[in-house]
Amino acid sequence: MRSVAILGATGSIGENSLAVLSRHPDQFRIETLTGSTSADRMALLCREHQPATAVLADAAAANRLQTLLGTHSTTRVLAGTEALVEVATAADTDIVVAGIVGGAGLESTYAAVAAGKTVLLANKEALVMAGRLLLAAAKTSGAHIIPIDSEQNAMHQCMPHSAGGINLEGVQRILLTGSGGPFLHHSEDTLASVTPDQACNHPRWRMGRKISVDSATLMNKGLEYIETSYLFDLSPEQIEVVIHPQSIVHSMVTYLDGSVLAQMATPDMRVPIAYALGFPQRITSGADPLNLLNQEPLTFLPPDETRFPCLALARAALEQGEGHCIALNAANEVAVAAFLARQIQFTAIPQVIAQVLAKTEAAKPNSIDSVLLLDQAARGTAQSCLNQLGI
Ligand code: NAD
Ligand code: MG
Repeated sequence: MRSVAILGATGSIGENSLAVLSRHPDQFRIETLTGSTSADRMALLCREHQPATAVLADAAAANRLQTLLGTHSTTRVLAGTEALVEVATAADTDIVVAGIVGGAGLESTYAAVAAGKTVLLANKEALVMAGRLLLAAAKTSGAHIIPIDSEQNAMHQCMPHSAGGINLEGVQRILLTGSGGPFLHHSEDTLASVTPDQACNHPRWRMGRKISVDSATLMNKGLEYIETSYLFDLSPEQIEVVIHPQSIVHSMVTYLDGSVLAQMATPDMRVPIAYALGFPQRITSGADPLNLLNQEPLTFLPPDETRFPCLALARAALEQGEGHCIALNAANEVAVAAFLARQIQFTAIPQVIAQVLAKTEAAKPNSIDSVLLLDQAARGTAQSCLNQLGI
């Protein structure tokens, strides 16, 4: 029996993780659930899954949760970032699902890695902000980082494993696939007027609003480009982005001898989550089996970087170094939030990011605190760019 903490349990990754865990009560115990401010949703989850601990982001939300659960509840209720770090590192937790969205997940994700946990990593922003520090911490602590982002999970499945972990010998390149998002076939001039709801209406995946917008701008592929480079220690030239609108092939690994291994499945996050929970065994996920005979033809095309400049911005940030990756992520979070609040147009998102990157200086932070300082500074710069746009 292994015990699991789900950071970001009230979100889309959290929901899919709980769905897989609920199928295997004999193998996993749900130890901790965390969320942001949604006490009602957390109360429902606590009643259903009876975690030992629940964490919400602030004291007001935690008090409300305590009231909703009543005095007879056995779930301990905590609040704040310190509590997140406490549950991510708790001795009685074996597996941590890092499912918080954005930079808000960095400290707890890092803490879980430094504590030597098995970390099921969805929070790609943490890797973009601090990939080198996270991988170094894993090496020291012995933590296993298993990506549950579907593409990186596919790569993990297609790479050779040895006793020491992934063995890259013979691996030549990665083909990182992406659906192209809801605006794949939109012309450049119609992109300016798309709404947040249109951007969040992803053709293949149901996800949180931030990652849905990232998928629509292709920044999600940009973040994954950086994520892939850190996670598997690959040079940027070894990673190629390929648009694959059907989202059946989740990425491919090409070998020196010309072989290409692809992982395929119906687009359902329960598949990568079940793989990571069971690894190295296989467990059921509840996802529909893939039926290639009923499937529309699989197609592949290059990304259009004129209509979707975010991918090139991410590639440039990776080349420029860690300070620029932090700034890219911070500016993207600020710009996406402004777009979701209907303050800026969809096409202003890459413009804000480009302006922030142009004002960023090279940096190589040596601690998570330094990363967070650079992140705050870049958010400030992004906010002033928005102010100049009259926001
Ligand atoms: P979501 O918005 O549905 O859920 C986000 C979770 O984070 C919620 O539980 C929320 O309460 C919590 N959270 C947000 N801000 C917080 C804060 N300040 N403090 C503490 N908790 C906070 O997002 P999601 O779609 O589940 O995505 C989560 C992460 O997984 C993102 O990094 C995303 O890129 C990645 N990811 C998601 C999917 C997917 O299918 N949803 C796929 C691949 C990767
Ligand atoms: Mg992905």
